[in-house]
Amino acid sequence: MLFKIPPMKTLLAKPVVDGMKKNLSSRIANFHQHSGRVPKLAVVLVGDHPASVIYTTKKGHTAVELGMKHETIKLAASASPQEVHEKIKFLNQDPSVDGILIQRPLPSGFSEEEVLYWVSPEKDVDAFHPENTGRLVLGLPCFKPCTPAGVMKLLDHYGINPSGKIACVIGRSSIVGKPMAALLLQANATVIQCHSKTPHLPSVTSQAELLIVAAGKAGLVDASYVREGAIVVDVGIHRTTEGKICGDVVFDSVAKKASALTPVPGSVGPMTIIMLMENTVWAAERREAARAR
Ligand code: NAD
Repeated sequence: MLFKIPPMKTLLAKPVVDGMKKNLSSRIANFHQHSGRVPKLAVVLVGDHPASVIYTTKKGHTAVELGMKHETIKLAASASPQEVHEKIKFLNQDPSVDGILIQRPLPSGFSEEEVLYWVSPEKDVDAFHPENTGRLVLGLPCFKPCTPAGVMKLLDHYGINPSGKIACVIGRSSIVGKPMAALLLQANATVIQCHSKTPHLPSVTSQAELLIVAAGKAGLVDASYVREGAIVVDVGIHRTTEGKICGDVVFDSVAKKASALTPVPGSVGPMTIIMLMENTVWAAERREAARAR
């Protein structure tokens, strides 16, 4: 009898996002009933980087759709780091604001390291403050960075449990690669972390049962990087010269070998936005609970 290979599963965000939207809308309605207000997200946008304007608009629309308040504070690209810092200090103190995020990339002249400390840890819904990063690594309650947390939710929705699996993360950035590895480790995966200095990348990545690709290199990963039957998550986002959106993974090539794969667009991107909403609702609930104590 011939062995029948099950079809490759496409891990779409839509069913996960739809379920989370329902859940968040009811948490927001509950919060409103108890506190008399709705959660508020403030986004600080410096300059008019086209992709940042699109992302900021999307975040605002989703917040409003869920019944939250949203404000984008726009500052000129020429704004000094001091001016932006003053604005954020004001938002940190504003009792009507629950979550603050600084849209990246910032213009040159800003110290990435300094900016990490600006948003107060209680309102740090992007989870970039070193206090939240430290708590994440220690496994303590904290905001989790939206992209890796979104990947974990996606896997959970599709019944993919990292426990006991060999997982490989390509990328070691502070916003994706490192927290992704930390979350997988907490979920009891055996984690291999690759980066731009990893030699013989395909021979390392092809050991993984779960491969997360966040290298920021369009089309880096084809079937030769992938173990037969692996689950592959593509975090990369790129715009081709023809104006199409693609990821770090060559979808058609990897689809022949993987048992499950995320498409770009339609998977990690929407998960990132909905995790931001979840972090903002949690920020509001936590602040309200602390106020009531
Ligand atoms: P980054 O440039 O900060 O980090 C990339 C990492 O990949 C680095 O650690 C580097 O060492 C590693 N790397 C680069 N080239 C490599 C190679 N050839 N082999 C092995 N490792 C290599 O990028 P980032 O901020 O972590 O983002 C990664 C990608 O994810 C980008 O395409 C970005 O646009 C995308 N992204 C998507 C979302 C989303 O919502 N879907 C969110 C954040 C980032």
